[in-house]
Amino acid sequence: MITDIAALSIEIRHTIRSALRRLDESAQGILLLLDENGCLQRTITDGDLRRLLLAGATLDDDLRQLPQHRPVTAAISISQAEALRTMREHGVRHLPLLDGDERVAGILRLADLDSPILLSTPHMGESEMDFVAEAFDSNWVAPLGPNVDAFEQELAERVGIAHAAAVSSGTAAIHLALVLLGVKHGDTVFCSSLTFVASANPILYQGATPVFIDSEPDSWNMSLQALETALQDAEALGQLPKAVIVVNLYGQSADMDPLLALCDRFAVPVIEDAAESLGADYKGKASGTLGRIGIYSFNGNKIITTSGGGMLVSDDGDLVERARFLATQARDPAPYYLHTQVGYNYRMSNVLAGIGRGQLRVLAERVEARRNIFERYVQGLADVDAIAWMPEASYGRANRWLSCCLLRTENTSLNVPKLIDMLAAERIEARHLWRPMHRQPLFESCRYYRHGTEESVSDRLFEQGLCLPSGSNMTEGQQERVIETLRSALVAASG
Ligand SMILES: *Cc1c(COP(=O)(O)O)cnc(C)c1O
Repeated sequence: MITDIAALSIEIRHTIRSALRRLDESAQGILLLLDENGCLQRTITDGDLRRLLLAGATLDDDLRQLPQHRPVTAAISISQAEALRTMREHGVRHLPLLDGDERVAGILRLADLDSPILLSTPHMGESEMDFVAEAFDSNWVAPLGPNVDAFEQELAERVGIAHAAAVSSGTAAIHLALVLLGVKHGDTVFCSSLTFVASANPILYQGATPVFIDSEPDSWNMSLQALETALQDAEALGQLPKAVIVVNLYGQSADMDPLLALCDRFAVPVIEDAAESLGADYKGKASGTLGRIGIYSFNGNKIITTSGGGMLVSDDGDLVERARFLATQARDPAPYYLHTQVGYNYRMSNVLAGIGRGQLRVLAERVEARRNIFERYVQGLADVDAIAWMPEASYGRANRWLSCCLLRTENTSLNVPKLIDMLAAERIEARHLWRPMHRQPLFESCRYYRHGTEESVSDRLFEQGLCLPSGSNMTEGQQERVIETLRSALVAASG
């Protein structure tokens, strides 16, 4: 919304030249012609002035020759959705809003109301470019370098863990974690079913077999009882998994204490997939630091990003040292290139680590911004009973990476695909929750353990869930637009 009305105001005695100059300086594409009482007579665009000149007016003529033209206006209280409809209906790109005294109090721009709102976009801070420039100035444009070392140290300090290895992606970090824990062809690895495919793909890279574990309803993360049944079955078969990958979904930690205790009982190590939960915590500890190995992702859509990258963390220094070794082609110490085992090219570039160092400095702000967005959605839609919000477990604090909700299908005739389409028609990007891995053709033959004998929680969440735009750089106006669009869709469907 434009609020500097004075900069756009002009009177009939002014010349076309000064009007053009004003348009040029304010760069909003619109002027307001006010009468002597300050009331809006009409709006003036470049095109209006061009038509005057073509009709024979000169630059020094005043604005009297402008035809009278009742402006399209609205009351200051108009909703964004209504404003958008009004602008489309009248084919205008600006909508002056009038206060109780019929004075212009602000101007809505079509471009603001109808620009795409994306799910989660990168949000740079102020120092990223400095670290990147340092890499260029010192010609450390390489995988490895001072930014990589510093990023590892700074992240380890931030989350309170002893060691960290920066790698090219979160997926690479999960793959290395599996290699470090000795996962080989024919082994099994347990993994949360409700997750992004990157949690499970590395199991296949190792030729191992995934077994998928359902979610529980309170945090949407791994179900303790499903995991227990799966471990008991595996023990009976003499086929205990080599690792359990516990995913911290949408920025909220799983209930790690009982999950870790259970895995301990069977002596199975836990890999914590904290790709989505950097900045969240669990009982005062940083999410991602509770398992034997934790991994983070700095992909472009995550809470902080290096455009692409990941981190493997552990309190076990030997493990992390080995991760670095494996990630640089497993080069043995020797005066020539000597290799005794398979390695990978998984290290993070020193340029991208520079971005990461800058992003780490704004992580706390990004968490607050995302949490605020979630809160605004909850409050803005408090009266809409067709929506239930993703719960926050009392044991920790989520980073609300994505604002997720469930459509209470008993309270609405809409379903998730229809709602996503309706939002898309308003250029708002919403998405389904992750489609559970046990429902992916890729994993068709894999075993799956439900939360209850009857109930599959992840299936229900998938059917009813959606993720709303959640980027920390969203404006309040954009959040309002999401709220209003959702409200009008859901209210229409309940009536
Ligand atoms: C993003 C993500 C990953 C993978 O991270 P990349 O850096 O994109 O490879 C893994 N697990 C989960 C749950 C994710 O959301």
